[in-house]
Amino acid sequence: MTEKKLPLNEDKLREFALYAGTPFHIYDGRAIRENAVSMMNAFSWSEGFINYFAVKALPNIAILRLLGEAGFGADCSSLPELKLAAAAGIPGERIMFSSNDTADEEFREAFQMGAIINLDDISHIDDVIRVCGSLPETLSFRYNPGPERTGNAIIGNPVEAKYGVTHDQLCECYRKAAEHGVKHFMLHTMVASNELNEDYIVETARMLFALVGEIRRETGIIIEQVDLGGGIGIPYRPEETAISFHHLSARIKDMYSEMIEGKGLSPLRLSFECGRCITGPHGWLIAKVLHVAHKYKDYAGLDACMADLMRPALYGAYHHITVLGKESAATRHLYDVTGSLCENNDKFAIDRALPELEQGDILAIHDTGAHGHSMGFNYNAKLRHAEYLITDDGIYCIRRAETYEDYIRTMMDPPVLRAEWQ
Ligand SMILES: *Cc1c(COP(=O)(O)O)cnc(C)c1O
Repeated sequence: MTEKKLPLNEDKLREFALYAGTPFHIYDGRAIRENAVSMMNAFSWSEGFINYFAVKALPNIAILRLLGEAGFGADCSSLPELKLAAAAGIPGERIMFSSNDTADEEFREAFQMGAIINLDDISHIDDVIRVCGSLPETLSFRYNPGPERTGNAIIGNPVEAKYGVTHDQLCECYRKAAEHGVKHFMLHTMVASNELNEDYIVETARMLFALVGEIRRETGIIIEQVDLGGGIGIPYRPEETAISFHHLSARIKDMYSEMIEGKGLSPLRLSFECGRCITGPHGWLIAKVLHVAHKYKDYAGLDACMADLMRPALYGAYHHITVLGKESAATRHLYDVTGSLCENNDKFAIDRALPELEQGDILAIHDTGAHGHSMGFNYNAKLRHAEYLITDDGIYCIRRAETYEDYIRTMMDPPVLRAEWQ
């Protein structure tokens, strides 16, 4: 079981919502920092342990800076994400560039920043040499275990996944990298998403530890770091339970003793690329009820929509909802909680039992601190909402709401004739 908390007491949060104007995201910076520190502490037995925070989960410079100060790095997969990490002051050696289908300019930027390049395909070795003139001193490969692992619902079956090099290609990748002067080797995989079963993450460690031994036997190459990727889940539903970093770490440590230290393969650094479990539970989308409508079903229409939080419409994902000020009221009414897009799947919840709703009620949609604002879009010319961060000194605006002028900034009106093509 997981208690669904709010970042401020209900009255304060409602007052702030009325002052700031809904919809907006609010993040609890204190809880995010604590969470990051607790992960670093849990794995402190592993020298040089790091979590490269997956920027896509919450791509805001203020958040990346806070996480960088807590000792995290950044996991980037595009050129703008690399720039965000740099803008947050995260040094190149703490940036993991885990891209796929990578453009030349992305390899170039990652190489110049001194980020760790994590190659998604054997053919990318030649691409990096062509674009950057050589391979970097440190290089990582992303492994796809194929039929060896089963995957889970969000990330899919590894055999069907576009990511990573196959088992048969892996040793060839390291040999080729060594021939081209690479000195430090890393191994990466990402086979889970939103996984709450700790066994699955432990199995991933086992798989990588075994591969480190296999690569050493086959090629003589020493893998210095294994990156277990992201994918640690969060309890979106109150009846679910979070993975404990301490418990997970203890199990991985036991396996490390046996499979790495016991076989003369140490030292081996450990890293993750978790995004969701770091910020997810510490963000809330705050929205107001615009209309309560009684049709064939009962609807509560919000001033937020799927363009502000796509997960429910995209995956049927559950997000807990609290009606501020009605915490203790009986949840006797079933509502579809909707947005205003001209799309009938624009719903935050279907048949959700909530207290009786009225126009003007303020709702907190929980666990939106990862893949919330960042998955937003502008369909129906919806403007992107603001983001706020609670810190010890108060509430900061870390992204203002988009305006109509922002929205049309890239539109060419009047249209520009591409004269060179006439
Ligand atoms: C999405 C992603 C992550 C982060 O996943 P979470 O579920 O947010 O932990 C890490 N690494 C890669 C390569 C990813 O694509």
